[in-house]
Amino acid sequence: MDARRHHGQHGRHRQHQDRPHRHHYDAEMLSVEEARERILGHFSQLPAADVPLLDAIGLTLASDLVSGLDVPPHDNSAMDGYAVRAADVATASESSPVSLPVKFTVAAGDAPDATVDPATVVRIMTGAPIPDGADAVVPFEDTDELERRANADAGNTRAATDVIGIKLAAEPGDNIRPAGEDILSGEVVLPAGTELTPGALGVAASLGLTTVSVIRRPIVAIISTGDELIEPGQPAQLGKIYNSNAYSIAALTRSYGAIPDIVGIAQDTVDSLVALLQRAMQSADMIVTSAGVSKGDYDVVKDVLAQHGKIALWSVRMRPAKPLAFGTLNASDGRKVPHVGLPGNPVSAAVAFEQFGLAAIRKMMGKPGVDRPAVVATLDDDVHNHDGRRVYARVHVYANASGELRAASAGNQSSGAMTAMARANGLAVCPHDVASIPAGNQVRVEMLGWPSDNLLASALHDSNRPG
Ligand code: AMP
Ligand code: MG
Repeated sequence: MDARRHHGQHGRHRQHQDRPHRHHYDAEMLSVEEARERILGHFSQLPAADVPLLDAIGLTLASDLVSGLDVPPHDNSAMDGYAVRAADVATASESSPVSLPVKFTVAAGDAPDATVDPATVVRIMTGAPIPDGADAVVPFEDTDELERRANADAGNTRAATDVIGIKLAAEPGDNIRPAGEDILSGEVVLPAGTELTPGALGVAASLGLTTVSVIRRPIVAIISTGDELIEPGQPAQLGKIYNSNAYSIAALTRSYGAIPDIVGIAQDTVDSLVALLQRAMQSADMIVTSAGVSKGDYDVVKDVLAQHGKIALWSVRMRPAKPLAFGTLNASDGRKVPHVGLPGNPVSAAVAFEQFGLAAIRKMMGKPGVDRPAVVATLDDDVHNHDGRRVYARVHVYANASGELRAASAGNQSSGAMTAMARANGLAVCPHDVASIPAGNQVRVEMLGWPSDNLLASALHDSNRPG
């Protein structure tokens, strides 16, 4: 699956018996995990904020959600039918119905104050409170209501159900949803740290809440660097390329629940970069730059950043995205704002952000775990490792007709070829000390779009199964 020979869909189902080859590696570099750990040491969980329910989707609860009421608030009917005293209908059957007078009707939303006296019943709708005296509901289907209506004269339908025949014996509690069946007043419904799903927001609304206390969204300032960059929308120019990194990084930022702030393009000059960093530092919880971290052009940037904080340039044992800068910048209000300097190549920038930026965002958002959901799939195409780094090959995972998970190359594996990233739904991992994994072998694939797009993927992977 290297840049020169990508098989795309064509290599599907080729079975190789070759085993993966091992080779040596450069021990001077940081592993992905070491780099991530160093970076995460500079991030902590952000403070809480009260936000409207809908804005809280995907955020984590800052404190326990405790119920102030029972849900449902009162015993209510689970069926349309008749509220009865079970003892009155103990002998009822299809062949010998028990006929009882109907006292009144309770609809959903009513607050009945009358009582179901012995040897009477009340017509009741789903969700309506059970009136005092009644202890069971007999559904319409188990009464003679339909026959009575059918037999009644056109003008006399009302009288048809003044009396009803109950055809089924009831036990106390039948078809009644007791108060507090779902939630009891005082109960911790969802603990602090819960990631709010649509279902969780439904629960909050059922408690009558309009806002929830959640960990606020991080603000991620995004700066692109490079004299060659122009913004989408500007006319194409010889020697220039469009600033795509800002958009892929901003889109990842947003899809993982943080707020992207695209600050702009810094020219390859000290003044230009400093000006944008100053702006970015004002509100950002994290600053992400792209490009300018390769050995050649890094020195200027490094000097600039060192004047405004601390910066280190690392080599991470990964492909793509070997060069990575990380540091902290001193904001005027005394905060130290972490700065992740991604490589410039579009795929490198995106993959590095998936490995490091996402972990930082998750930590700030109070979300547990940094290991992406992963699946094991069988390769359709070879994955090659040229120089002892961990390869993250862009692949498309699919289930074949027999339900087997397969991973096909998502296209050109060059770090500049963003189309493969666009087609990929996962990164197939070739360990740093394995020279190649031939097609037909199994490979671990870290799924992209974590976690919401990958519930299936995580369900398939044992280590992601909830305990
Ligand atoms: P650099 O890290 O500055 O050597 O850049 C590596 C490669 O990434 C070069 O081909 C750059 O033109 C390209 N590149 C840098 N920044 C961007 C960007 N914001 N959008 C797209 N490509 C970029
Ligand atoms: Mg450059």
